[in-house]
Amino acid sequence: MNAIPALCTPSVEIPALIGSLMKITAVRAILLSFPVPKERQHRNDYGVVVKNDNVIVVVETDVGITGIGAAHGGPEAIQATIDHEIAPALIGEDPTNIERLWEKMYSGSRLEPSLHRGYCHPSARGRSGERLCAIAGVDIALWDIWGKFLQQPVYKLLGACRTSIRAYASGGWAPGDEAEREMAGYAAKGFTAVKMRAEGRDGFSIRKSIHRIAAARRGIGPDVELMVDAHGSLDVSTAIRLARRMEEYDVAWFEEPVSPDNHDGLAEVRRATSVPMATGERESTRFPFLSLLEKRAVDIVQPDIAIAGGFTEVRRIAALSSAYGVRMAPHVWSAGVLFAASIHVAMSTPNSFIFEVSQAPNPLIYEIFEEPFDIRDGYVHAPTGPGLGFTLRGDIEERFPYIPGPNYLY
Ligand SMILES: [Mg+2]
Repeated sequence: MNAIPALCTPSVEIPALIGSLMKITAVRAILLSFPVPKERQHRNDYGVVVKNDNVIVVVETDVGITGIGAAHGGPEAIQATIDHEIAPALIGEDPTNIERLWEKMYSGSRLEPSLHRGYCHPSARGRSGERLCAIAGVDIALWDIWGKFLQQPVYKLLGACRTSIRAYASGGWAPGDEAEREMAGYAAKGFTAVKMRAEGRDGFSIRKSIHRIAAARRGIGPDVELMVDAHGSLDVSTAIRLARRMEEYDVAWFEEPVSPDNHDGLAEVRRATSVPMATGERESTRFPFLSLLEKRAVDIVQPDIAIAGGFTEVRRIAALSSAYGVRMAPHVWSAGVLFAASIHVAMSTPNSFIFEVSQAPNPLIYEIFEEPFDIRDGYVHAPTGPGLGFTLRGDIEERFPYIPGPNYLY
């Protein structure tokens, strides 16, 4: 009888890492909400936005350095994941062993075989969803700690390639001809690129969408770049028909024309039009990005640091996409900590070329730090302070108390 090949490596103790610079003493989540005032609520293809949430992730150490990160997703689920699964696994670890801790959070109880064999062993729940978002939030905080310890900005630790990057204004919800004035307003702020939603407040049809795109192009003139985002809301044939109509308006990218689960469909849309395809804001880990790249489905990848897996995973995605000659435009939305972290991504990944600046009225992005973001002349500039380079205001929990319930009402 043939011997059964050994699938399991004998238990091998991974030698301790040299020295311990500090130890994690606590990991916790702070939940925040901003209820959108009634007069500013409006409908988009997700429904009516009634509130925005933030999950701030705090990692404390025994040397007095505290790291901050942020997680995107269901706030209570993320908080429970951090309290009951991630914090017990990380307390006592050295926060500067970031690759090890990412692997520990991702592969869970199978950390040792993962490191011994050289490939990941994620659990069923660890690969995406709230667990992966919690991992991302902690990872951001770990890099913040490392930067504060070394007294250097995170982007310097990651390997700086620039200190500023061209920005684009991300908004564009106005209906019909009003898109002309709305998008012209963004250009008047100094942005040389602007993004609008395929579906405006007047609902979606190809006719309405093209009407608004034409109005936007009139508003911004021929020299400002125009992008269009469909939030993954169209089927393949509608996306192709719309993309072909967009071509005469010189659209710089068509974002998430179809469901993020439909990589083959996106490749089909890409082959049918000259408009470049952008996607990635809802993908977790490098593996779905590899699928998009292998299928030749994408021209511009848009990992969101909070969903893709933090700095540690986004830099892998950047390297992977650069090998395919694909550029990166980090997806940046919903939280000031994520805006700050994304700046460091953009400053340390050579294939990043443009940076998203939300035009949504959300103080959870722009009013949670003591220091303002440096956005001038259509560029976002890197902060100079250590770590993420920003300090949370002391009153955010009183100012933005958490409100349970859905963010959108359809
Ligand atoms: Mg988008």
